Amino acid sequence: MAELRLNPVTRRWIVTGKRAVMPDVLEVDGLCPFCPGNERLTPKAIEELRDASGAWMTRVFHDRAPIFQVEAPLNPRAEGLYDHMNTLGAHEVVVDTPQHGISMGALPEEQMARVIEVCRDRILDLKQDRRFRYVSLFKDQRDITPPWLTHSLSQILASPVLREEGTLPVLRHGGAGSAAGQARRGPEPGLHRVVPLRVALPV
Ligand SMILES: [Zn+2]
Repeated sequence: MAELRLNPVTRRWIVTGKRAVMPDVLEVDGLCPFCPGNERLTPKAIEELRDASGAWMTRVFHDRAPIFQVEAPLNPRAEGLYDHMNTLGAHEVVVDTPQHGISMGALPEEQMARVIEVCRDRILDLKQDRRFRYVSLFKDQRDITPPWLTHSLSQILASPVLREEGTLPVLRHGGAGSAAGQARRGPEPGLHRVVPLRVALPV
């Protein structure tokens, strides 16, 4: 289980621990959990933007293996050298488009506007919760992933601690996962990097 841990030297909070392995794109009977018609493979939608026909164009739900959880008590505690807290917060997935295999850069202008609108709405909603002190929007996009294995997603994290620029929270994954999952996660097996979208970092 993930938790927040204060580095006693730098005085920065990091996310540490293990995260459950979740099926990735095309890993369940060749089905992409983010495509229209497969909504049963994801949690219930928090917010959806629909077109005139009623079909969703942008969809938001809680991550299936969230790093931060709304229900978690903060429970601050000291253990040895470290201060720890539970990962109280929120971790939401934004499906940028119903279309599989298209990158965000190739989205039509009106669809990009929908993504921005729904992200704005979710950030404003999360800011209403006084337990959260930092909300970040980020995207996991790897050049090495073949387009047919991807479905364009954005992610929103709300955490109870402020993030200092230059820190790089790292979360150890709970298992090896598939080749597709590893490709999407990057070259270091078992590691996730959590990097805010608008901060330039030497990743
Ligand atoms: Zn898909």
